This record gives sequence, structure tokens and C-alpha cells, in this order.
Amino acid sequence: MDKTWYEHTLEHSFKSNFHLKSNSNYDVVIVGGGLAGLSLLLKLVESGIDVLLIESEVIGAGASGRNGGFCSPGWSQDYDILSNYLDLETVKELDRIASLGVMWMRKKCHEKGYENTYLTEGIITCFLGGKEREVEQKVKKYNKIFGSNNAFLTKNDLRDIVVSDRYLFGIKKDNAFHFHPLNFINSLASECTAKGAKISEKSRLISFDKNSNHFDLKISTEQDIKTIRSNKVVFATGGYAGSEIKSLRKYWIPIKTFIGVTEPLGKRIQDLFKRNFGFSDNRRAGNYFRIVGGDRISWGRGISAFGDISKSLIKKQVSADINFFFPQLGKINIDYAWSGKMAYASHMMPYVGPIQVGKEEGLFALTGFGGHGMNTAPGSAIILADYLISGGNSCNAFNAFKRTWNGGFLGPYAAEIKYTYLRLRDYLEQVYQRH
Ligand SMILES: Cc1cc2nc3c(=O)[nH]c(=O)nc-3n(C[C@H](O)[C@H](O)[C@H](O)COP(=O)(O)OP(=O)(O)OC[C@H]3O[C@@H](n4cnc5c(N)ncnc54)[C@H](O)[C@@H]3O)c2cc1C
Repeated sequence: MDKTWYEHTLEHSFKSNFHLKSNSNYDVVIVGGGLAGLSLLLKLVESGIDVLLIESEVIGAGASGRNGGFCSPGWSQDYDILSNYLDLETVKELDRIASLGVMWMRKKCHEKGYENTYLTEGIITCFLGGKEREVEQKVKKYNKIFGSNNAFLTKNDLRDIVVSDRYLFGIKKDNAFHFHPLNFINSLASECTAKGAKISEKSRLISFDKNSNHFDLKISTEQDIKTIRSNKVVFATGGYAGSEIKSLRKYWIPIKTFIGVTEPLGKRIQDLFKRNFGFSDNRRAGNYFRIVGGDRISWGRGISAFGDISKSLIKKQVSADINFFFPQLGKINIDYAWSGKMAYASHMMPYVGPIQVGKEEGLFALTGFGGHGMNTAPGSAIILADYLISGGNSCNAFNAFKRTWNGGFLGPYAAEIKYTYLRLRDYLEQVYQRH
């Protein structure tokens, strides 16, 4: 099957009636119709700003419409690592933004027009190794610092929820859920246009120039190339931006990740999954899985900094992974397989706010959410919207993440070597655990 499982089960398809005209003027142009761009669009249009969103493909074609569907607090980078170089108040502020994103998503999923998002509560991180006592203490420590309510689960607690001999203990995340991301993103685009926003699909930004106090943007559409004018431009282009956005291209790399969805497994999964939670594991290059469509397993795995992996290889790898964790299932077929691109900076945190370098005044970034964007993209969009509307210092928490060079053509090699090293460590840990 060529479509993703989400495309196959799409119930809410967004249609834009907007026709982009050359020489039109806007206060803000948002480039990119993923969750970052659309949540910013909604906030701006609700504040009466004249804003246009352009998307090179269709709404949700990027990572936002093809991801694992997990929405939980936190960022791509661990708080342990952030705490090494940020003061506690900044880490707390980042946690507040990440939680704001979860709350916003949860509220939306319950609104009229978002019925097909199928919000389902509960996400658990399952540990294959590690020091149980230390993890339990860490859960308590972070609950105290951030006022969260994560729950440590012993092996027996976990086995009452998911039956795999590989897992030793777990953490049930506070305030986390899973949902249908493609239906969500289509509903969000419909809400934006119902409120007066302009969305132009099949419209790719190919270049831009600064002229006195505005930008002239060249946009390639299905018909021709249009030139429009905007006072401000926001790049919400995720892992799909090309070198047309020179101001940012040097500071992140696209990383792919992969998902496979099994055939319907009927009663076979009832004994293994006692609750319909989302699960991830603590491997360095982790898996993330959940039940979709009643009796299929959606299984996310792996990352790569290089080209595509064939569908048949993704299916083979997903099937091998599922068999490793759930050998009780026996042979299973994988019906769907796809990949998606994420934008990663070397510090694994996003770029949010003005890209202030001389003539770039008026350009803004809202990108780099990595593998944890379902809360952080809207949380950051709310903060950037405040900044665009009222100025001030709402983006300050992001100033700690300076743009860092991506290593040029060597960057993807470095990322791949790092990933191979992490996989090797996962593998060795497993081997040692068995002996
Ligand atoms: C397979 C997969 C699984 C994931 N699972 C999860 C998960 O379970 N939970 C989680 O929190 N996160 C997950 N993520 C990460 C999450 O999906 C991303 O962090 C998030 O979607 C990023 O949103 P975005 O709007 O920044 O980017 P995108 O959704 O990728 O949107 C960017 C858009 O910009 C458009 N664009 C790019 N360049 C141009 C241009 N020049 N002109 C016009 N348009 C342009 C692209 O076409 C694209 O639609 C996953 C990602 C992948 C790929």
C-alpha cells in the first residue's frame, strides 16, 4: 500500500479555495503548513493580523501528518542535559512552554470540528535496562521540580499493561496522549480558514529579497511563479526546507525516521496490550508503538541522516523489531510503511524567534522540533505569536540555543556515525543483559 495508514483512514480532508495573486501584500507570510506553521497561523489570524501561509505540497504532507501521534510534555533534548548548561529558571520556562503545547493540543482535540482526532490518554516509557532505583528517584526529583505527576511502574505494574519479557520497569508520563495527527492537521487548517486565514497549497518559496522594509518573495505554484510582498517572514519549514532558505540551512540537518503498521491482528493482541496506551522505549535509538484501528500495531523505529530506505526494508525491520519484543505474536505482515523528515540542530532544541543578522531583520524561525514536535511546535508557536503581536521578551528562553553550524557536507556522516554508535551501545546492553 502506497499511502500511509493515516492517509488511508483520513476522515477530514482540508480544501483551500484561496488563489494566490502576484503583487499581493501581507503583514506576515508563514512558510510551511505543518503543525508549527498552522498553530502560528491560527494565533495570528485570531489577533487580526493579515497573514498568509504557503505550503509547497498539501497541508500535513510533512512530518506533522505522518508521525507517531504521541503528544507528551518535554522536548527532544533531555532535561538532564539542558540542566547542565541552562539555569533552573530557564529549564522551568522551557518545561512550561512544552506543557502549554500539550494543553493546547488536548483542548483542540476536544473541540467541535476535531472529533476525528481520537484522543486516547496515556503514554508509557518502557525500560529495557538501566538502574531501576536511580530512575525511580529521578521521577520523584523531576516531579518535585516541575510539579508533574509522572508515575514509576515496577515490572509487575508494567506487565499489567503490556506483556513483553524485554521490559524491566517503566514510567507513565503525566498529561500525555496519542491521536490521529493527519486528521488533526486537516481540522486545524479548516479552523484557520474558517476564521479568515489564507492558505495557499502547492506554493513553494523559492527565493526572497529584502527591499527597504519589506521582503519580495518568489513562489512557485502549479501555474507559474508569483511574486508577493510581506513585512515579515516566518520559516516553519521543518525537515523539508531546502537551500532556498539560506539563512537557516547551515544550522540543522534533516533526519529521517520510519513507521510500519501491521495487518489487523485480531484477538492476538488482546492478551499483550491490556490498555490502549502509546509506548516508547528507553533505547538510545528508540521504538515507539501503539494500537491503531482497533487491532493493528503502528511501530516507529530508527533514524537515518541519509537517503531513503525502501518500503520492503522498513517492513522487514519493523517486523523483526515487533518479533523481538513480542515473540508471542508469531509471524506478522506489515501492511503500511513510510518515512518522514525531522529538523535537528546539534543541540537538539529548536530555533524560535527573530533570525536577527543585519539585513535579515524581519525574518523569523519556528523550526527544529526534532522527534518531539507535537507539543513543542504549538507551544513555541504561541510564544512566537506573542512576540510578533506585542514584541517584548517572550522568546528569551530560546536565546540559549544559538545557531550552530551543521558540519556542512560532513554533518550527515557525523550524525550517521553517532546513530550507529548508539545502536551498537543498545545492542551491547541487550547482549550483556541476557548473560
Ligand atoms: C515518522 C515520524 C514520527 C514522529 N513521531 C512523533 C511523535 O509521535 N510525537 C512527536 O511529538 N513528534 C513526532 N515526530 C516529530 C514531529 O512530527 C515534528 O517535530 C513536527 O511535525 C514538526 O512540525 P513542523 O511544522 O515543524 O514540520 P513539518 O510538519 O514537516 O512541516 C513543514 C512543512 O514545510 C513545508 N515546506 C518546506 N519548505 C518549504 C518551502 N520552501 N515553501 C513552502 N513550504 C515548504 C513542507 O512541505 C512541510 O509540509 C515524528 C516525526 C516523524 C517524521
